[in-house]
Amino acid sequence: MTNDPTPLSSAQFNQLSRAIQKREDAIIREVLQQPDYPPLPSCPECGAAPAQIDTMLEPPRFGVAEPAMLVNFQPCGHRFRAVQDLDGEQ
Ligand SMILES: [Zn+2]
Repeated sequence: MTNDPTPLSSAQFNQLSRAIQKREDAIIREVLQQPDYPPLPSCPECGAAPAQIDTMLEPPRFGVAEPAMLVNFQPCGHRFRAVQDLDGEQ
C-alpha cells in the first residue's frame, strides 16, 4: 500500500498519547495480565479497536524540517501523521 498517512492535529495526537499512557499506567498500577488489559483507544479513521498502536518519530527527510510523529494502528492498517504544533497546545 502506498497511501499517505492521514494528518492528525496536535490536539488529536495529544489526546491519543494520553489515552495510551493512561492505559499503560493502569496496567502497571494494577499489575494487569493479558487478557485483562484495558482496551486501546479506537482508530480515529474507522473506529476499530486496535490490537496494537505503534507511535514513532518520523525519520528525517531532506528539505522537511518539521518534527512529526507517525502512528500506525494494527490490524486495520490506518496510519496517521501528527506535526507537533508548538502554538496549538490545548
Ligand atoms: Zn482504522
